[in-house]
Amino acid sequence: MSGRDHRARNREYEQHRSSPRERGYTTRWQKARKTYLMSHPLCVMCKRDGRVTPATVVDHIRSHKGDQQLFWDTGNWQPLCKPHHDRDKQREERSRFQAVDADGWPT
Ligand SMILES: [Zn+2]
Repeated sequence: MSGRDHRARNREYEQHRSSPRERGYTTRWQKARKTYLMSHPLCVMCKRDGRVTPATVVDHIRSHKGDQQLFWDTGNWQPLCKPHHDRDKQREERSRFQAVDADGWPT
């Protein structure tokens, strides 16, 4: 098991431990998210690749880390499909811990 796998596992644990509500994902968020996806129905990353995929996740472009202002700033939101959202978060997770080259390997 590489160190990277180990960290990914730890993060999964963290996410399961805190409830969605504790992380700011309240009823208000559910409503805002739904409204946003109605006016932004397509995954922006798929669109960049020339594909049309319905977005199911509202992603925070800059990680809000509990910052309410950033959390509710719709300029910081982007519509993503689930696979893209998960991939994006994994990449961000890696870059936070170490510098990586274009292929995602440590430099
Ligand atoms: Zn996508």
